[in-house]
Amino acid sequence: MPDYQQIRQELEGIAVEDNPALVKQKSRDFYWYSPILKAQLDNVTADLVVSPKSEEEVIRTLKVAYAHGVPVTPRGGGTGNYGQAMPLSGGIVLNLMSMNRIKEIHPGRVIAEAGIITAELDRQTKAHSGQELRFHPSTTGTATLGGFIAGGSGGVGSITWGGLRDLGNILRLRVVTMEAEPRVLELSAWDLQKVSHAYGTNGIITEVEMPLAPAYDWVDVIIGYDDYMDAVRFADALTHRNGILLKEVAPISAPIPYDYFTRHKPWLKEGQSVVVLMVAPHSMAPLVAYAEKMKGDIRFRSDKVESMKGIPHAYELAWNHTTLRALKVDPGITYLQVQYPGPDHVEKVGRLVKIFGDEVISHLEFIKFDGAIQCSGLPLVRYTTEERLEEIIKIHEDNGCPIFNPHRYTLEEGGMKQTDTVQLAFKKETDPKGLLNPGKMIAWDNPDFDFKSGKNYLFPGLQSFM
Ligand code: FAD
Repeated sequence: MPDYQQIRQELEGIAVEDNPALVKQKSRDFYWYSPILKAQLDNVTADLVVSPKSEEEVIRTLKVAYAHGVPVTPRGGGTGNYGQAMPLSGGIVLNLMSMNRIKEIHPGRVIAEAGIITAELDRQTKAHSGQELRFHPSTTGTATLGGFIAGGSGGVGSITWGGLRDLGNILRLRVVTMEAEPRVLELSAWDLQKVSHAYGTNGIITEVEMPLAPAYDWVDVIIGYDDYMDAVRFADALTHRNGILLKEVAPISAPIPYDYFTRHKPWLKEGQSVVVLMVAPHSMAPLVAYAEKMKGDIRFRSDKVESMKGIPHAYELAWNHTTLRALKVDPGITYLQVQYPGPDHVEKVGRLVKIFGDEVISHLEFIKFDGAIQCSGLPLVRYTTEERLEEIIKIHEDNGCPIFNPHRYTLEEGGMKQTDTVQLAFKKETDPKGLLNPGKMIAWDNPDFDFKSGKNYLFPGLQSFM
């Protein structure tokens, strides 16, 4: 057992918390979305929470932790939903939220500390020069920039810009290593892909440089369809209109909208499916014209309501907020993450909707993927047993739709990041004792791990770039 009294003394001057209730609170994320992870991770807790205010304090903390052999699990807003930020081996939770300053804003890019909340970053860049992040997670009000890069994948804006996996969507990272004398690395281009979506297993991100896009007062729009597949076809056709500027396009099947979008209920019609949109104000006239042509029933426009007080933003109906809204009403719901590779993505969606009926309720997110528009999905699942969930996954895969399994907490099993020898060599270099977020990278714990298991990964291994 490490001598935490001694460690606290060595960290003097840095904010440290050891109250067990508060430490436990900061040792969890949204793992409980998954009934499987909930059972596995409920008792996980750290021993200390350390909240550095500067890169220098991060370096000091890692140096002390290294000397005592204590694990360190970084944490931003704790909104990850696969237990990414949970300290499986105890030790220190490194809370980055006090490192929240913007350092520089330039045309097309921003430099900020990793702990800034992404909505706050957007607020400041918009006020400064009418710019905002290209895309943000739907948790933008509570998630940090560093946490998004280390644990997220894409989100609101990915219809235009793709995701974090795409070269150019992150410009530069400053990363502190976990060594006797921690080093600060500056990573760009291919190199930063070692650290993006690595759950903080190979360095602590302290500073981030991100590209920016023009900011707009995006208009929330909800369009109803009696037939879900008409909603999907409309969304697909709309995203192929070159001139209409969109930030969010999410077809969501009945009964989700009417049953779970409680604050929007006055505008919704029972039994209807919807397409949730965010549209640039100057694109509203063309959007309305096109929706009318496609026989859409425009139910809601944020530019026409008297007040948006108490009404959530459109993006808080989409991405994993759809799941959250369902879980608030029906705790028996869980979800999956599906890719529907194009160009026949609409056909694939139709096939799976028919197979599962009301057991798996469709929710799609249209995104740009490798230059083409297709859809990914976060369908809701009426959960019965783990075996049935596995069957549902297999049926998707048999129909050509890979699953990124949100019921696994390791990088590899979740299918998000492919680890390979380059990734492993980098971790050996940056974290030789394996103290950063232990238990999250199978390839580190199991030297016989088969890198070429044939699985699909959202963030491909680094060898594929070399
Ligand atoms: P945390 O949960 O605190 O951490 C995430 C991971 O990053 C952990 O492994 C942690 O150890 C590591 N980490 C955190 N900070 C650092 C750092 N500075 N250096 C190194 N490692 C670090 N995700 C999306 O991609 N798109 C979405 O639209 C989206 N919608 C969501 C909606 C809901 C309702 C929920 C619950 C989750 C959603 N997520 C989404 C997942 C999650 O909210 C995002 O990925 C978010 O950006 C994570 O940021 P965070 O600050 O909360 O990170």
